[in-house]
Amino acid sequence: MTATEVPLPDLEASELRLLIGGERVDAAAGERLEVLNPATGEVLVEVPAAGAADVDAAVAAAREALPVWLSMAPARRAELLWDLGTRLAELSEEFASLEALDNGKTRGEALMVDLPLSSEIFRYYAGWATKIEGSTIPTASGLAQHVYTRREPVGVVGAIIPWNFPLLMCAYKAGPSLAAGNTIVIKPAEQTPLSALRLADVVQEVGFPPGVVNVVTGDGPSAGAPLAAHPGVDKITFTGETGTGQKILEASKANLKRVSLELGGKSPNIVFADADLDAAVEGTYGAVYFNQGQCCIAGARVYVHEDVHDVFVEKLLAKLTAIRLGSGLSADTDMGPLVSSEQAARVTGYIDSALAEGATEIAGGGRARLEDELSGGYFVRPALLTDVTPEMRVMREEIFGPVGMVSRFSDEEAVIAAANDTQFGLAAGLWTADVKRAHRVAAELHAGTVWINTYGFFDVAVPYGGFQMSGYGKELGREALDPYLQTKSVWTDLS
Ligand code: ADP
Repeated sequence: MTATEVPLPDLEASELRLLIGGERVDAAAGERLEVLNPATGEVLVEVPAAGAADVDAAVAAAREALPVWLSMAPARRAELLWDLGTRLAELSEEFASLEALDNGKTRGEALMVDLPLSSEIFRYYAGWATKIEGSTIPTASGLAQHVYTRREPVGVVGAIIPWNFPLLMCAYKAGPSLAAGNTIVIKPAEQTPLSALRLADVVQEVGFPPGVVNVVTGDGPSAGAPLAAHPGVDKITFTGETGTGQKILEASKANLKRVSLELGGKSPNIVFADADLDAAVEGTYGAVYFNQGQCCIAGARVYVHEDVHDVFVEKLLAKLTAIRLGSGLSADTDMGPLVSSEQAARVTGYIDSALAEGATEIAGGGRARLEDELSGGYFVRPALLTDVTPEMRVMREEIFGPVGMVSRFSDEEAVIAAANDTQFGLAAGLWTADVKRAHRVAAELHAGTVWINTYGFFDVAVPYGGFQMSGYGKELGREALDPYLQTKSVWTDLS
């Protein structure tokens, strides 16, 4: 590993305790959770491991804060959200180091994506806080009634966060929730709680009323499950695995919570023969390997037209072999470790299963055992597989690691069918110089986002979310407010 060039973030600077009702507290039962450095496998710090009693307290605090938050002028709510976004922007360097340390991603990627988008989300939804409007509706039957609608918050939101974009996913959930007038209990992933706890510091610093934002760290069964099942929670917003999403949906049914699910993907990325090949290689690299491949949108099923297949593979391979693994905190690192030992084992397990099923590994794939310096961390070399067939597990299940699968195609209709042969529908990419084909194919792909001649772009104003088993309930943009609001119709007799 190259020398770390960025100083480690000062963990002492953060409270690293639960935020409940404006107080920083330890878990009621005194339980602790070890937070590991994925680049070394060493324990970084311990944080509270919340249980059902802490979730109860956080939900009660969020409920108590609801009338306070709602009676506040929308312009003041907007100001607090704006200030939160601005403060995050000011603290970008520190947060990027924290994400690199805790998640393993490179600081450069965190500074390029996680931080600017997180702060932009709070500032974008600050704008919406003063624009939540109903409408006046003339009755179809012509009754002498004045009818208008009010857009009201659903109440207390439980946000269950994954480990791949720890801070950013808090922003995805908290921005629209708070703008819509809800209060929130955030449960970060047990692997990556540090940036959410630091966010709690900033929430307090900018002056949110106590209980509007609460943060409880803990694992899925002990802290996530009680939140999903809690009768005092009106809505759950979740990002994570499809199987976990199904459990959350099941747990939420007792009080018929609103549920938004942003789940897994198995996204196709199609390169036609007339594509700008260098751009397609560059974009495909990002599509498959960004964030160590730990992205739900990973476009890892790569279909390349037979006329350009070999040269495409050669160019992508050249990029992969130049990748430098290392700590996310080092400026010399292109790719950091995976988030955990379990994740590294799961990813190499998928590669092994593909090889057993007849795939060919033309790049990487193993745990980085040979380099002594890396062997303590959860490093997996970026892998590229060919000779894959549609029924292989790597082509059907989400891997969530740096593994790409390249297939050859010759026919547009057939490649669309292959791309759509999945239970998921999160995203898709296509590369072509033919504008008619681009839009024809985009319309045919079953996915919530289609990128043409690019991959992985996000913008705070553009809705994002899946079709099919990739979930429902859009995030970002104006549409993301809808799942956090409910419409009330008010009738007045004018006869
Ligand atoms: P992974 O298995 O890769 O950690 P998950 O989708 O299971 O991914 O985790 C995403 C988030 O869901 C984490 O915050 C985790 O603690 C939480 N979680 C896991 N299991 C449950 C559950 N049964 N109920 C509620 N939340 C859960």
